[in-house]
Amino acid sequence: MNKPKNLCRVCNSIIQNIFDFGEMPIANNLMLMDNETYIKNEYKYNMKIGVCINCSSLQIINVPKKELMFNDRYAYFASESKFMKNHFTKLGSKLMKLMNKEKDYILEIGCNDGIFLKSFADNNYKHVGIDASENVVEAAKNDKINAICKFFDEKTSLEILHSYGKAKFVVITNTMHHIENCQSVAKGIETLLDEDGILVIEDPYLLDMYKIGSIEQVYAEHNFIWSLHSYKTLFEKYSIKLFDVEHFDTHGGSMRYFFSKKNLKETNIMQKYINLELNNKIFDINTFIKFQKNCKKICKELYNFVVSKSKEGKIIAGYGATAKSATTLNYSNIDQNLISCIYDSTPFKIDKFTPGSHIQIRDAKLLSKDNPDYTILFAWNHKNEIIEKEKKSKTIWVEYIPELKLTYEN
Ligand SMILES: [Zn+2]
Repeated sequence: MNKPKNLCRVCNSIIQNIFDFGEMPIANNLMLMDNETYIKNEYKYNMKIGVCINCSSLQIINVPKKELMFNDRYAYFASESKFMKNHFTKLGSKLMKLMNKEKDYILEIGCNDGIFLKSFADNNYKHVGIDASENVVEAAKNDKINAICKFFDEKTSLEILHSYGKAKFVVITNTMHHIENCQSVAKGIETLLDEDGILVIEDPYLLDMYKIGSIEQVYAEHNFIWSLHSYKTLFEKYSIKLFDVEHFDTHGGSMRYFFSKKNLKETNIMQKYINLELNNKIFDINTFIKFQKNCKKICKELYNFVVSKSKEGKIIAGYGATAKSATTLNYSNIDQNLISCIYDSTPFKIDKFTPGSHIQIRDAKLLSKDNPDYTILFAWNHKNEIIEKEKKSKTIWVEYIPELKLTYEN
């Protein structure tokens, strides 16, 4: 009997497998090393990515159960980055100006620690935040944000509709690409979005990922990388139409999408990106094969660098125990034998160990005291913010995306 084919979760076409990463841990599952049994039983799964050349979406095949990824150990607290805080405050101010304080409310799906809704709460705008990870929801509630701990889907949308009615804005930033059942979410948004409402989505953009060869956008929690074409395919099924986009450099290149139930005129900038996707051949499998080769080259270069410096007796550390870096570290076989530690400023992460590679996470305050010979910028998407913050340190910064580069800032 033939093996059943994997089908695209957006358009139901057959997916082509392009990259088999082998056994990978859950990227956000940081570990406590005093628990031997836990380490022995560390959950791993065979991570494979595929591409649908019918709708141009990149997807993880065989996504682990969502409860294994989003739980009370979720390690990403969005408000840790001042830059991201500022980025979302600007969006919040724009949307608040368009809201009627008496009537309207805003719903955020994947509200994390309340980084975006904080300004709505502070200015007494009606808002609802929903997120599946208990610890980040607790942080949001402590900040006086109206947050619910649940997975958003069709069923949850009916509960929210019952309690709050239809939403003027539905905002989903850096979350939609985490959700395996995108159909249920789109259906839920169809239920909740007001006829005059706007849906705003923002997440890492397929073309940027392709251009810089960012292997790191791919891990279990990022089970989709979206494009204009794939989002259009998904939401048009639910009569929600894309009409505008805005591009940002955040997270290695992100796209903000604006959708409406009304037939709004498509903007020139949206047309520009539609054409850019076509010119970059996002419906051609060879584009993704090239991407796969580029990712392998990046991992090999980093591994060779770390091994050669380690043989010279140099101390190599990392900065930013990011979920993104879990893919690079595990795929490149770089572990605690090659990297002394990874510095991070998130209190939740300090003194834990990275998944799979088991590298100790140290308080970022210690970097300028330790001064390792080299520090790999795993949080490369926050490069300027980090180098400025750590300017007292004598370390040499190592970047590896899109290629290996040493930065002697100090
Ligand atoms: Zn598809």
